Amino acid sequence: MAATSTTPYHGLSSHEVAQMLETDSLRGLTTEQAHRLSARFGPNVLPEATGASLLVRILRQFHHPLIYVLLIAGVITALLREYVDSVVIFAVVVVNAIVGFVQESKAESALQGLRAMVRTDARVVREGRELVVESEVLVPGDLILIEAGDKVPADIRLLRHYELRVDESALTGESLSIGKNEAVLSDVTPVADRSNMLYSGTLVTAGSGAGIVVATGADTEMGEIHRLVGDATLLATPLTIKLARFSKLLTVGILGLAAFTFALGLLRQQDAVETFTASIALAVAAIPEGLPAAVTIMLAIGVSRMAKRRAVVRRLPAVETLGSTTAICADKTGTLTRNQMTVRAVWTPSEAVQVTGSGYSPDGELLSGGGTPVSIDANLALRWSLLTGAGCNDAVLTHEDHQWGIVGDPTEAAMLVVSAKAGLTAEHVGESLPREDTILFNSERQYMATLHATGSGDHVVLVKGAVERMLELCHDQMYADGSRRPIDRSGVLLAAEQLALQGLRVLATGVRESTDATDFTERALLGTVTLTGLQAMLDPPRTAATSAVTVCHTAGIAVKMITGDHAGTASAIARAVGVLEADEDTAGSVLTGAELTEIAPEDLPDAIERACVFARVTPAQKLQLVEAMQEKGHIVAMTGDGVNDAPALRRANIGVAMGGSGTEVAKDAADMVLIDDDFATIEAAVEEGRGVFDNLTKFITWTLPTNVGQALVVLTAIALGTALPILPTQILWINMTTAVFLGLTLAFEPKEADVMTRPPRDPNESLLTGALVGRTLLVSALLVAGAWWLFEWELANGASLPEARTAALNVFAVVQAFYLFSCRSLVHSAWRIGLFTNRWLIVGVATQAIAQLAITYVPFMNTIFQTAPLDAGAWLRIFAIAVVVSLAVGVDKSLGARRNLTRASAHRTHLDGTSAAMR
Ligand code: ATP
Repeated sequence: MAATSTTPYHGLSSHEVAQMLETDSLRGLTTEQAHRLSARFGPNVLPEATGASLLVRILRQFHHPLIYVLLIAGVITALLREYVDSVVIFAVVVVNAIVGFVQESKAESALQGLRAMVRTDARVVREGRELVVESEVLVPGDLILIEAGDKVPADIRLLRHYELRVDESALTGESLSIGKNEAVLSDVTPVADRSNMLYSGTLVTAGSGAGIVVATGADTEMGEIHRLVGDATLLATPLTIKLARFSKLLTVGILGLAAFTFALGLLRQQDAVETFTASIALAVAAIPEGLPAAVTIMLAIGVSRMAKRRAVVRRLPAVETLGSTTAICADKTGTLTRNQMTVRAVWTPSEAVQVTGSGYSPDGELLSGGGTPVSIDANLALRWSLLTGAGCNDAVLTHEDHQWGIVGDPTEAAMLVVSAKAGLTAEHVGESLPREDTILFNSERQYMATLHATGSGDHVVLVKGAVERMLELCHDQMYADGSRRPIDRSGVLLAAEQLALQGLRVLATGVRESTDATDFTERALLGTVTLTGLQAMLDPPRTAATSAVTVCHTAGIAVKMITGDHAGTASAIARAVGVLEADEDTAGSVLTGAELTEIAPEDLPDAIERACVFARVTPAQKLQLVEAMQEKGHIVAMTGDGVNDAPALRRANIGVAMGGSGTEVAKDAADMVLIDDDFATIEAAVEEGRGVFDNLTKFITWTLPTNVGQALVVLTAIALGTALPILPTQILWINMTTAVFLGLTLAFEPKEADVMTRPPRDPNESLLTGALVGRTLLVSALLVAGAWWLFEWELANGASLPEARTAALNVFAVVQAFYLFSCRSLVHSAWRIGLFTNRWLIVGVATQAIAQLAITYVPFMNTIFQTAPLDAGAWLRIFAIAVVVSLAVGVDKSLGARRNLTRASAHRTHLDGTSAAMR
């Protein structure tokens, strides 16, 4: 039988599957086979989502109550033979749709481009050799290895497993993880019950296994689902939803007002057609129709800016939340430190030894306190400790192009290096003491143990792990001559403490000789191991971390270090990076996992808020930390990398996963992935988040007053029953051109210098603040007054009606352009931030100027819009009005800034008070 896409692999034995796919269940495919199959099946990627068709996406732009009104108005005016009005209305509809479409596409592509930044690797066996490859290159027949934390990279028939559990919720919706095994099933078993199959895109939550790839890319079960539903990029965020709701409400209100205006005009027996189009213009002018789309594009720009700083946002709402983060809980190892370990000292009950050399190069010496080289044959405890470091170890040292590197865990690699410095290589240990079984390290267990056969037919167990945990396993300790005495717990703890206080990470090593291989269980190890030594390693803090922590503190953001490491090591590193102050007392500031369990639940939130270092905590306690901080009103960003971190990452307001060292499970649960694992990147993302929010506020501050101003001019004219100072078509023109050329350019505004010196934004604060309402009233009133005054003045001084209207029309364009400069900063004056720092804004203003010159001077435009050329005097008056409005806004801003500053300093005093109380 030949393999087809519908072959029921779950109903075949693993031997049959291997035969059918022409592969070897131990050695995998050959390189030649893999190449051939790759050419036949193509890359292992899901097909590009077809999503909505272009036509549907274009049509969607017309699905808006305002557009319906405009379309009806366009048809009615056409029926009434008011062709110019009708054309202008339709033009407005089309421009609106184009802008919406372009924005939506840009936002989508910004988000889609990010996927490629986070790559997924797979471990594959080809020609008997284990390789790490990008999951894209997998082909049917490949033998692959998986373990807890991986995302299954293709559809796989399981061959071997060890306590394997998989979360298949992405496929079946079932959130409990299910056990897997290799037993053959009936052909008719439904997908959800196929316990010998692993499906692409699901997550391995525990154990490990090996299997044969049976389907890749579009042929996988996930590919099938993908084809059915497409992959809609979610562009909605709480803020855009709120804004969309706000504009819908506003639309209804304004349409009511427009209807009222129309009725009023009819009552006054004004021209019905003119009143009708005026009411439509009023509605168009007043409704901030571009708001939700503009917000989406601003968030998308934020996403791209964050990506440039190596933070990949997986969910759009994170951009919003980042800006209001009040606490960052960061892992120590790898995030605040470099995760590049070097063993600096080895302590044994007989003597302490210093280790020279740097990095992963095995060049270096072991020196006694007096500086003389130490022989491992003279100290058996040292010998066993180094042997354990080399044998109870899954890392590999590599040497390519004269560069030493590692594959695997840096802690283990450091232990390999120190053993190699003493002449004990992993190969040497592997030959003399072949490994037969392993108890894997994990953060809960805090140790790793391996069972080895000795040449004499006996067995020996090598153990390494966290000191406190090892003390539970050990009953005696070894001396230089190989003799053993009962364990001196306090002596060992003291030695470990002294090393930890230097910021060194300390692991204890131990050994147990036994004749029996069957008692290799966690229980059997308790109280039976002989402690051989302590190995202390340096993991230098990341250079950028210290300044990033300082920036966070200035920005009113609390930084908490969370680690599985010893409290002493954690405190020393916390001091080095500024999480703890140099002279800060550790009482209350440093809490261990054990201490956390002893605090009464009602006191927990306060204790957690007060502390800044959490040592020896388990992943389960991370969830507790997040919840306690949230209870105190914090917006929490929490980092994580392991499978067990997923619940805390999901619960945090911003779950942050490590792109380099993180598991796929953690990345899947996170809102943001750090490409470089660096703490400074979180700070950078917060900074960008604040910048995005600033720009949103600036856009709203610009758009609301100008919209209201435009609408009020029409409203007052109809209410007063006088000639309109600006015609409906002219209002439509000014509304559309300024929204596109002026308003949108604020999305490209660079961050202001002081974004990280103010306290975090209160996420519950409404966008429509009192200050914004005040500003809206001020600017719209000045706009209306300016336009009316100039219109009347021009008429009184002999201008024609079209000339007076053109002057009023230009008042809007010029005032809005001036006001745009003012909105570039919410507190500082336009001059302070530099006129040319946003070149899009300059391009926008120049385009608007050309558009205004065209509508004023080009005869053809004069005919369509009933405008007329202006003389220099009129322009002078227009600019004079713009200057007056800018001065008024300047005064309002400086008063507001003073108000804000006093509020900020009050807030800062409060924060200082809180942090003082924390210490
Ligand atoms: P983080 O700071 O990111 O929380 P961590 O590496 O300090 O991580 P864990 O990985 O949970 O925390 O390690 C907890 C403790 O277990 C370490 O302090 C160390 O003593 C011990 N340990 C770490 N790695 C190993 C390992 N590979 N084998 C045995 N013990 C280990």
